[in-house]
Amino acid sequence: MPLSWFGHEWLYIVLFTIVGIPILLLLLFWTLERLGYFPRKHPPGKCTHCGYDLTGNVGGRCPECGAKAG
Ligand SMILES: [Zn+2]
Repeated sequence: MPLSWFGHEWLYIVLFTIVGIPILLLLLFWTLERLGYFPRKHPPGKCTHCGYDLTGNVGGRCPECGAKAG
């Protein structure tokens, strides 16, 4: 195995670190956001679980995901 192969390997590792880590962080942030790790204010009349529009809903339960409305 030539020594230069290691040089290229390092180049790929450095490139992956520079390009990959921000992408991984973005993916992580996006995943956590999707999972609801970051609390955010839900607009009134929307399901707190899935965001389904509950305007006029009288059943007290989201028809979309079954979560308790309100
Ligand atoms: Zn829902």
